Amino acid sequence: MATPPKNLVVYDFDWSMSDQDTDRWIFEVNAPDIRRKMEDLEREVQWTDLVAQCLREGHAKGVTKAQILGALRIMPFHPAMIRAVTDLKAKGNTTFLCISNANSVFISTILESKNLSNLFDTIITNPAEWTEDGLLALSRRIPPDGPQHSCPIGCSANMCKGDELDGWLTKNGKTYESYDRIVYIGDGSNDFCPIVKLRSQDLALCRNFGGLKKRIVRDGEKFGLRCQVKHWTGAWEVEETFSEL
Ligand SMILES: [Mg+2]
Ligand SMILES: [Zn+2]
Repeated sequence: MATPPKNLVVYDFDWSMSDQDTDRWIFEVNAPDIRRKMEDLEREVQWTDLVAQCLREGHAKGVTKAQILGALRIMPFHPAMIRAVTDLKAKGNTTFLCISNANSVFISTILESKNLSNLFDTIITNPAEWTEDGLLALSRRIPPDGPQHSCPIGCSANMCKGDELDGWLTKNGKTYESYDRIVYIGDGSNDFCPIVKLRSQDLALCRNFGGLKKRIVRDGEKFGLRCQVKHWTGAWEVEETFSEL
């Protein structure tokens, strides 16, 4: 019997695995005035710093840990996405990696609530932890006071997703050639950098809304994008694609 192909599936989290944006959602549920403020400051303050600041403001106003966790657990998440990853993982020939600009607490809380805690080999994201008095203390994956990444594609200061993908492979003694196929699921402009690293047999599952689609049109040729690109709107389409892997 032929050995099944080895796949690596790399997920962005917000609007890719989930059907919402964690950073914005918890304030939409618990403190819409802070949510408005995020909208106003988005262009002035680095995003992770802004979310950290909003978490501190929410905490000062009395938004509790239970309220934040509760909001995460009811955040839209498509049942077809749960089926898609559960069925593919059960086949045994796919490794799952998450590279997200959200944070460790948001992601682990949601995965736990969907019984997906064991899905990912590694979750690469911004570190966060609860203080004793219930503040979620969030910081950048790349601290602002140390060496910064030098990504030519324009990743945000806290993380270069392309560097992270390279780094994870190296750390695990692997290369792109260790996999027959790499599939990247993303929606945002910061998902452009990692898909530029993919080969012609690899696949980017690009969500129909969000910055990634526009970025591919604008910069795909310029940066030598080689992978196949398939657009999707609903998780049922990801499930369809995964059933063929
Ligand atoms: Mg996203
Ligand atoms: Zn980058």
